[in-house]
Amino acid sequence: MNQKLILEFPNSISVSVKREDLIHPFVSGNKFRKLKYNLLQAKDENQEILLTFGGAFSNHIAAVAYAGKENGFRTIGIVRGDELRDKIAENPTLLFAQNCGMEFVFVSREEYRLKNESSFLENLEEQFGNFYLIPEGGTNELAIKGCQEILTEEDADYDFICCSIGTGGTIAGIINSALPHQKVLGFPALKGDFLKDEIRIFTQNNNWDLITDYHFGGYGKINEHLIAFINQFHLKNNIPLDPIYTGKMAFGIMDMIEKNYFPDQSKILLIHTGGIQGIQGMNKKLKNKQLPTIDIHV
Ligand SMILES: *Cc1c(COP(=O)(O)O)cnc(C)c1O
Repeated sequence: MNQKLILEFPNSISVSVKREDLIHPFVSGNKFRKLKYNLLQAKDENQEILLTFGGAFSNHIAAVAYAGKENGFRTIGIVRGDELRDKIAENPTLLFAQNCGMEFVFVSREEYRLKNESSFLENLEEQFGNFYLIPEGGTNELAIKGCQEILTEEDADYDFICCSIGTGGTIAGIINSALPHQKVLGFPALKGDFLKDEIRIFTQNNNWDLITDYHFGGYGKINEHLIAFINQFHLKNNIPLDPIYTGKMAFGIMDMIEKNYFPDQSKILLIHTGGIQGIQGMNKKLKNKQLPTIDIHV
């Protein structure tokens, strides 16, 4: 569903939001798209276990835990951060995943960096037997195939398609299905210039660009400015945004409209990739630092 913002923008620009955050109550947005064909593949292979990786507040961990339960898989999450072992009860994301039946292996940050090495995976196979491996963030060929279904025929009229980026899988799918007259703009939620190469692994098209000015200092980093923007946006449009991904993208687009980046009469579509489950965990951190929090209800 595309929701047009009723706000007035200068130069007859219009902005709509594709509400991918609403496609499933627990497996929201792009994580649903990325898992769809992977779940089918795991079933085809008669796999019984899904194994994947993620950080403390990972939308992907939460999504795999729930989708695994719904589809009859045992799920195992390799979680970055040894210290989280004793803090599951305080962490809304991990608690949710555990309640879905996910089993955790907590590893140090150093160990976590080795997660793609064969010795690391062999150890896990010794421990758990065969499993279907879903990479960190869920990005693989089948995930891109799922993300190619985000844009549909009803989106042919938009000039700009905007999307937040973590690993680049989601935007690669969107780029593949965008039409030649459309420009896809990606907003990295983290610092680093490796993303262009990552995206090019999965797409040959060139109708896209990265906007790298709105990562707010890096992955998971936020400030009071961003929180105020997210709360304002929610209040005005009745659309919640998450602080890690979609909030930064929407902030960027509004700033770019103000700075006349977009031609007159541009029709802009924001992809709301979900991530709302992460707000609770972020609010706990903000409260501890005595900073303003993100409104869950307005
Ligand atoms: C995971 C995630 C992203 C990033 O998707 P990639 O395919 O890794 O680029 C963007 N938005 C939300 C809400 C996410 O949870």
